[in-house]
Amino acid sequence: MSAPKFLALHQIQEELSSYGAKLVAVSKTRSVEEIKELVAMGQFDFGENYVQELLTKKDLMADGPVWHFIGHLQSNKVRQIIPFVHLIHGVGTISVLKEISKRSTEMGKDTEILFQVHIAEEESKSGFDLVEVMELFESLFESPLPGLRLRGLMGMATFTEDHGQIRSEFKRLKSLFDQMASSGLNSFDTLSMGMSSDYQIALDEGSTMVRIGSKLFGPRG
Ligand SMILES: *Cc1c(COP(=O)(O)O)cnc(C)c1O
Repeated sequence: MSAPKFLALHQIQEELSSYGAKLVAVSKTRSVEEIKELVAMGQFDFGENYVQELLTKKDLMADGPVWHFIGHLQSNKVRQIIPFVHLIHGVGTISVLKEISKRSTEMGKDTEILFQVHIAEEESKSGFDLVEVMELFESLFESPLPGLRLRGLMGMATFTEDHGQIRSEFKRLKSLFDQMASSGLNSFDTLSMGMSSDYQIALDEGSTMVRIGSKLFGPRG
């Protein structure tokens, strides 16, 4: 029944299982039919980058997927995804963090978040820098914001053929993650790093969650 391209699902799941890591299938630009096909195969976690696209797909698939928001989030769109989003990976500014806290509190829920950390060379990639995020973590540890559950960190390595560079960027993120996790915050257990081109390196360096699109669905148009 399933299209041959989804054969990669089982291979990836097998690779992940030896690390105890979780797969988020990145479904941006993919159809609801394709997502349903993966759900039928037992893949429930999906990552979307755009709020409008996520809302549309969510409405078309009442239950099934567990939705992750992995894109660049703007404060004015936070309210729309809070009611149902499982985990927000890309929290990279204080203003977005405060908005998530405010809207979650209004709705009487705790929203799970990851801080996005800027580890790549490219300026275009977003997130806090390493010093900033540590300061923020410490200040939230002292005086927590309501409505938030800090689950961990997310980062994207430089887009390069240089595996040594990718590895050292992931290492830096992992070491920051370990420092924070050792603070005693129980919920802090998720390190989201690795995409189609670099997830094997990420797993090697301690990733607990990989975000894979093209390796699963084929190249994006
Ligand atoms: C698109 C995207 C991915 C998946 O990329 P692939 O190379 O298709 O696996 C992962 N993470 C983020 C943040 C993305 O925007």
